[in-house]
Amino acid sequence: MNDRMEPVVSVRDLRVWYGTERGAVRAVDGVSFDLLPGETLGLVGESGCGKSTLGRGLLGMLPEGAQTDGEIRFKGENLRTVSRSRLRDMRGPELGMIFQEPLTRLNPLMRISEHFEEALRAHTPGISKDTVERAALEVLGLMGIPPTRYRSYPHEFSGGMRQRLMIGLALVFRPAFVVADEPTTALDVLVEAQIIRILHDLRREFDTSLLLITHNLGIIAEACDRVAVMYAGKIVEVGEARQVFRDPQHPYTRELLRSTISLSTTGLNYIPGAPPDLTDPPPGCHFHPRCPDAMRVCEELDPIDQELSGGQRVECWLHGPDHLIGVDGRDRLRVREELSVADEA
Ligand code: SF4
Repeated sequence: MNDRMEPVVSVRDLRVWYGTERGAVRAVDGVSFDLLPGETLGLVGESGCGKSTLGRGLLGMLPEGAQTDGEIRFKGENLRTVSRSRLRDMRGPELGMIFQEPLTRLNPLMRISEHFEEALRAHTPGISKDTVERAALEVLGLMGIPPTRYRSYPHEFSGGMRQRLMIGLALVFRPAFVVADEPTTALDVLVEAQIIRILHDLRREFDTSLLLITHNLGIIAEACDRVAVMYAGKIVEVGEARQVFRDPQHPYTRELLRSTISLSTTGLNYIPGAPPDLTDPPPGCHFHPRCPDAMRVCEELDPIDQELSGGQRVECWLHGPDHLIGVDGRDRLRVREELSVADEA
């Protein structure tokens, strides 16, 4: 990946919040990242950390009542400030979304051919049936779906095939940027592997930039160039996927990796404690009540974003700046001890 390439997507200090009776839910809390042409960025974190809100926020698909701030540049245009109609026109041809639960997204009364006709005609009103069919069969071929199934109904497909259809519908336009939100949830392991292979091949076939949202670190390792780790609305670590997996620098990333590995082997380990209530997150580093390395400074001050070697970035006081930490490692044990006491009680 060439660092001098212009990013397709450039997000700066993005915030998304919802007003509730208990106060504002800060679902995305100051997120920044770039995505290069043809790059796949994996977004990982526990449920409720803000991953899906971030994905929907990027495409202007948030539910009513959501408030946003910050910048989302797509090929230089700020998607946060473009008109609704401009955004509608961009969704499909330029911006794609692959959802989980394909059955709820496909109309059971419409043949697959009609789904493609409807999608393409919404943006190219006069397009002929033949042109739609050619475009659809090409993309379905890439998804491993034979042309003989073009006039079938959604219920005639397996769950894995329906998910591939959804991917095909999102990609028939060859959009420059796609958000895929948990695209393999509820699929068996073999089908999951197929989908991952397809997503992996996207870059070669379409030069699409992909934000792949998942809680599954194995998928990130297989399909992504870079990984961003999200906790309580913030990206706490981002870097080349191999590098982050080999040498995670944020305690949350380490715990996430440890819990994933042990779940697939012994099933015993998990990250102690629970993610915070986003209406009232803990002060300082939001991870400090669960962090095995927490220091006093972590309870009081937001960690500062630090750039490490190889472009890896991390928000954690363990990485300085040293003059602001001002305490030694003895404090780190204290929070851990408190957690153990709470767990035993
Ligand atoms: Fe742990 Fe402190 Fe780093 Fe937060 S800033 S992850 S509490 S060491």
